[in-house]
Amino acid sequence: MEALYFSPMLLGLNLLLALAVASTALWTMSRPIVGPGYWMAGLWLLISGVLLFAAFTVTRSVVLNIVGNALQMAGEAIFLLGIFRFLGHRMPYWIVPVSVLVLVAFNVHYWVNDGNSDFLMMVYAFIAGLLPIQAVWVLLRQRREPSTRLARLLVGVCLAIYSVVTLVRSAYSGHDWWSGAPYVQPTESFSYLLPYNFAMPALVMGFIGVTLMTMQRILAASHELETELKLLATIDPLTGALNRRSFNELFAQLQRSAEQHKTPLCMALLDLDDFKGVNDRQGHQAGDEALRLFSELCRREARKGDVFARFGGEEFVLLLPDTRLEDAQRLLERLLKAVAALEVRGPQGAFGFQASAGVSELRAGDTQDSFMQRADKALYRAKHLGRNRVSVES
Ligand code: GH3
Ligand code: MG
Ligand code: MG
Repeated sequence: MEALYFSPMLLGLNLLLALAVASTALWTMSRPIVGPGYWMAGLWLLISGVLLFAAFTVTRSVVLNIVGNALQMAGEAIFLLGIFRFLGHRMPYWIVPVSVLVLVAFNVHYWVNDGNSDFLMMVYAFIAGLLPIQAVWVLLRQRREPSTRLARLLVGVCLAIYSVVTLVRSAYSGHDWWSGAPYVQPTESFSYLLPYNFAMPALVMGFIGVTLMTMQRILAASHELETELKLLATIDPLTGALNRRSFNELFAQLQRSAEQHKTPLCMALLDLDDFKGVNDRQGHQAGDEALRLFSELCRREARKGDVFARFGGEEFVLLLPDTRLEDAQRLLERLLKAVAALEVRGPQGAFGFQASAGVSELRAGDTQDSFMQRADKALYRAKHLGRNRVSVES
């Protein structure tokens, strides 16, 4: 009979030990995420408390009983604190001293006054069963971080099961105390089997839940980082225009599509006029601001499907699919007029600036280089003819 009762206890103890080891691994591998440290500390305290209690059942040492119970209670409370910490919620630190002190007071009273062990069990299970309720509430109510929602639900449900089982244990012990049931060894008592058979599995599932919750957070963070890195790899950070690398990729696509569908494709090279002078007169920061405003205007004026990129310094390129040379020229003239009307706030008040553009149209047999060279020549001519103008290839 005793062997039958003893095995679930041993199993429960080993499960708890396994949880403590696993929580240590989680803590090591998930740093700097906050919360797992509390789960680890809580589970180690819990298992130490249970071991001391097991030693008490053999030695009948009062100190082992009181310290063992206190450690178990503190372990559970600290584990729960980890959930608040993980969720970024205000942490109810008070639950640790309050639950431990109330329990110790009853425990000492029990030994001093030769009290009733069922009554003590009722108190212990009542506190332990009430503790998780606030955490369950917070887990299920949290709206932030949808990526961890399912795992939060799992943890919440497991803690709720743990709470209900433990409160049932409290009620059962309370009933035994009230009806004056005779004392039985812990290893033979239903109120001990209840937690080992039902509350412990809930705790195991809960721990799996907090591990999943942590994993989901890590995954979501790496996903965000990936998006950011992709953006950094394709966009020029100062102006928000595409960088040269992504321009080259898109150019190849647009050229292929233009050749396939026999549609025109135009390219405009844009260069800000006398930008050295702008920097000299207004300072580099105001120059940067001018570049930003210029890029913003061009991106706003570009149609969907156009490609606008910063090619270097104050040189930009605009690819216009499905556009003939005359239309491209008209579009660029309108754009340069709008550029000349821009106002930049500089250290000595507002100032304006201008730009020039050279335009070419894709020909049969063109490479990116030959296509671009014609636009560059046209740009050179625009500069030569006095700047602030559009020149098309001859
Ligand atoms: P031009 O009309 O012939 O184009 O004259 P320019 O002064 O613009 O001549 P150039 O194209 O040779 O000079 C480019 C200047 O643009 C030099 C550099 O100081 C400035 N510049 C390049 N990149 C940046 C930048 O990121 N920020 C700022 N503020 N200035 C830049
Ligand atoms: Mg220039
Ligand atoms: Mg230049």
